[in-house]
Amino acid sequence: MTSKPIYQRVLLKASGEALMGSQGFGIDVTVADRIAGDIAEARAMGVEVGVVVGGGNIFRGVAVASKGGDRVTGDHMGMLGTVINALALATSLRKLDIDTVVLSAIAMPEICESFSQRVAVHHLSQGRVVIFAGGTGNPFFTTDSAAALRAAEMGAQAIFKGTQVDGIYSADPKKDPTATRFDRISHAEVLEKGLAVMDVTAVALARENSIPIIVFSIHEKGGFGAILQGGGVKTVVSD
Ligand code: UDP
Repeated sequence: MTSKPIYQRVLLKASGEALMGSQGFGIDVTVADRIAGDIAEARAMGVEVGVVVGGGNIFRGVAVASKGGDRVTGDHMGMLGTVINALALATSLRKLDIDTVVLSAIAMPEICESFSQRVAVHHLSQGRVVIFAGGTGNPFFTTDSAAALRAAEMGAQAIFKGTQVDGIYSADPKKDPTATRFDRISHAEVLEKGLAVMDVTAVALARENSIPIIVFSIHEKGGFGAILQGGGVKTVVSD
């Protein structure tokens, strides 16, 4: 716990599904508190942490589009869902006395600050956890793409993609017992093999900006901290 981290500034992507826990919808506060605990551990190591939260536990734009509705409106609803999640995670972090700011890609000044790259970097350098809400602020994108975008903008050394499993496997480990976890794989291979790690836009953006993606289990308590110190269970995507 006290050994030095190998990263100074990282971007954590937490999906809405992660915040949902075992519920079918919404936010499980105990899960949000646990993820906040892992972020607090990173802060205790001195690591600057930006977080992009998803919104799939509340709404996805495709759900509207698949029923004949307007996709853009659906995506607006999805982006608003990410703001709800961001406020929940900020609440969990503040309960731990972690100085936290929510920056939204969609202006809603009564609720949180608006995103700008300069403001985000300022807060990070002051030791605040910055939660990026509202995705990219544009329809037809995902919060994975927002994670790659914000990581590039904040000069993050890595994107930590917290998932339901502890890395990228050769096959679905829940279905195929012979599936093996990759220790390292390139961005290009992820794209060529069509591995469902992050969407194509996100992986391409990370590759273009030479940002490694570290895939790990968001449910493993202390897993984030262990990887920040060079250990832990993960797959590293880097060229
Ligand atoms: N969304 C969007 N633009 C963005 C990010 C998100 O329109 O830049 C919308 C989109 O409808 C998406 C929803 O917000 O389905 C929730 O985001 P996402 O599916 O990425 O959440 P996650 O799967 O990480 O929970």
